[in-house]
Amino acid sequence: MKPHDGMYIDRAWRPATTPDRIEVVNPADEQPIGTVPAGAREDVDAAVHAARAAFPGWAATAPAERAARIAGLRDALAARRDEIAETVTAELGAPLPFSQAVHADLPITVAGSYADLLGTYAFEEKVGNSTVYLEPVGVVGAITPWNYPLHQIVAKAVPALAAGCTVVLKPAEDTPLVAQLFAEAVHEAGFPPGVFNLVTGLGPVAGQALVEHPGIDMLSFTGSTAVGRLIAATVGAAVKRVALELGGKSANVILPSADLGRAVNVGVANVMSNSGQTCSAWTRMLVHQDQYEEAVALAATAAAKYVPGERVGPLVSAKQRERVRGYIEQGVKEGARIVAGGAEAPLDQGYYVSPTVFADVTPHMTIAQEEIFGPVLSILPYEDEADALRIANGTVYGLAGAVWAGDTDEAVAFARRMDTGQVDINGGRFNPLAPFGGYKQSGVGRELGAHGLAEYLHTKSLQF
Ligand code: NAD
Repeated sequence: MKPHDGMYIDRAWRPATTPDRIEVVNPADEQPIGTVPAGAREDVDAAVHAARAAFPGWAATAPAERAARIAGLRDALAARRDEIAETVTAELGAPLPFSQAVHADLPITVAGSYADLLGTYAFEEKVGNSTVYLEPVGVVGAITPWNYPLHQIVAKAVPALAAGCTVVLKPAEDTPLVAQLFAEAVHEAGFPPGVFNLVTGLGPVAGQALVEHPGIDMLSFTGSTAVGRLIAATVGAAVKRVALELGGKSANVILPSADLGRAVNVGVANVMSNSGQTCSAWTRMLVHQDQYEEAVALAATAAAKYVPGERVGPLVSAKQRERVRGYIEQGVKEGARIVAGGAEAPLDQGYYVSPTVFADVTPHMTIAQEEIFGPVLSILPYEDEADALRIANGTVYGLAGAVWAGDTDEAVAFARRMDTGQVDINGGRFNPLAPFGGYKQSGVGRELGAHGLAEYLHTKSLQF
């Protein structure tokens, strides 16, 4: 795609108020692929004003009208499927088949799910002598990261629009081009002026201006726990609603009765997918001590199939690559054993990291506690179920996880005791309608499906 020079505000691509630009780099070959405007406080202000002015009209539309616009948005995204996939491959580095199947198709599905949901969703209900109305929260500021760049935009903007809210989006600076494609699709779908606005820019400048803006009613953020904490403090102090999708350190618990080979192979695939840049990745594999060495050998064999530059793409930036290599070195320093990969660069060019598997990891090591956000798996032994549960729940995070057992009930009983927002049972598939979000420091609130729509609604009761 050809990047836009301006920002999408009030249904027009208009020039930024500063000449500053952000360079977008292809992480596979380290070559620049375009620039976008680095928005300033004034640009955010213009976008919030447009969203404020548009809010009363959009909030008053019938759900069927919003459903029609969102169906149009889904179709406009679907028409750009190849361009979306190629753009995400260029700016994030994901292999093209993965960009097509996940980075393009998943957000198209999610957008469509909200067009469908609006056909049946009850925006009012009777409770005794009351009628309870669900009303849009207002102007929503949305701040998104780069790892699933279009999915994370759609998972915020589309339910907000479906609720009757208006939106100002500040996407990640590493992946702004697919955000521009999203704005093009919004335009084509015919949303009225100001209902959706895009401001590209740096987090501490444009992002912070959006968080602090008195004209927003809610801030929805996906990204690191460190930035999420700052945002929650500011938005909370203003007594506004905040939704946070933050980091994770999820456990893949393999109980002794499970099909070990399948559990290990799916577990390795889960961690290597998207080069390990997935907040819900099962980066800790928990295996009974009697099966430990067998699982380690299986995981090392499986990881070797993920060849950098073929099945595994680069990390998004040199900064992320250095961060991940630093964690690998830290793991070695603290006494973990590398059985696949390592910190050395596997290719001369591009921000690649070798798919890496650590054995002999103990629960308190840095690599077992902190989010690495790269293709790095830690395998930990446990003594019994109680020990496995302690280890699984023993981090500050609680975003996702997996449980494998010979019997579904056994797996469910374990999953119910995990402090985490979603658990895949014996390889259960991702469900784009199921609520997604975290316990503990993994966040506040839920995205996707009806729960994701409810985030953007206030409740009002009238008594009769
Ligand atoms: P980040 O938190 O630095 O950035 C995320 C977004 O916040 C970007 O758009 C950035 O510009 C913006 N931002 C940065 N500083 C800001 C500030 N002071 N005020 C307002 N906005 C600001 O995260 P990242 O490094 O881009 O992404 C990687 C991290 O995101 C991972 O470590 C992972 O924990 C987390 N993540 C979580 C999820 C999830 O759904 N739970 C999904 C993706 C990423």
